[in-house]
Amino acid sequence: MSKQTKGKCRFCGKEYTKTSMVKHISSCKERKNELEKYENDNKIGYFGLAISGKYAKSYWLITEFREDATLKDVDKFLRDIWLECCGHLSSFNIDGISYESNPNPSGGWGHPVKGMNGKLINVIRKGMVFDYEYDFGSTTALIISVFDYRIEPLKREKLNILSRNNPIEYICDECGEKKATAVCPECIYEDAGLLCDDCQNEHECGNEMLMNICNSPRFGVCGYEGSSKYPD
Ligand SMILES: [Zn+2]
Ligand SMILES: [Zn+2]
Ligand SMILES: [Zn+2]
Ligand SMILES: [Zn+2]
Repeated sequence: MSKQTKGKCRFCGKEYTKTSMVKHISSCKERKNELEKYENDNKIGYFGLAISGKYAKSYWLITEFREDATLKDVDKFLRDIWLECCGHLSSFNIDGISYESNPNPSGGWGHPVKGMNGKLINVIRKGMVFDYEYDFGSTTALIISVFDYRIEPLKREKLNILSRNNPIEYICDECGEKKATAVCPECIYEDAGLLCDDCQNEHECGNEMLMNICNSPRFGVCGYEGSSKYPD
């Protein structure tokens, strides 16, 4: 999963890897044109957040959040686009403080625990890198880096998706030849769960439990099959 995936710039449509996209997004002419349309006297800060799988780095999102968005807004977005299977707990770990979806003040094992109501402007700064975890059992771990903070015309949305990795094509684990079209949620933990159309029929766990491959670092885990709100 270390392949460098590309994604499209939402404004000009050009394709870049994540690192290049972070640079491109600050200088994209089409983006500047779009921002000029909003030109007015009301300005507010926006944070640029680059989000990727901590281990599955091929999955990434480049977003901007208005400074008055809360950690809960970011959590909700991550659940909506990549993660939500059955309402597991989640937490951000920022500067040694845990910000949890269901904070338990005595559960911090020595480090402070808070809820997610804090506004971004009060908890993050440009240049920070922090962790996020969804589901403390079959955990999906993410890394979020704050690559930008700029004052911009007040736009309606608290959240804008600037780019996202293109869907990844996998080769079948069984035959090693054809394109995988489904995943077995049992075998994925042994790196043997990706199956092409042909190998699905002969899969030992049975055909009926196979699931869709989706554009998320959580695909195949705990029944996760993708987002209806933000399809690939
Ligand atoms: Zn662009
Ligand atoms: Zn679940
Ligand atoms: Zn196959
Ligand atoms: Zn299986």
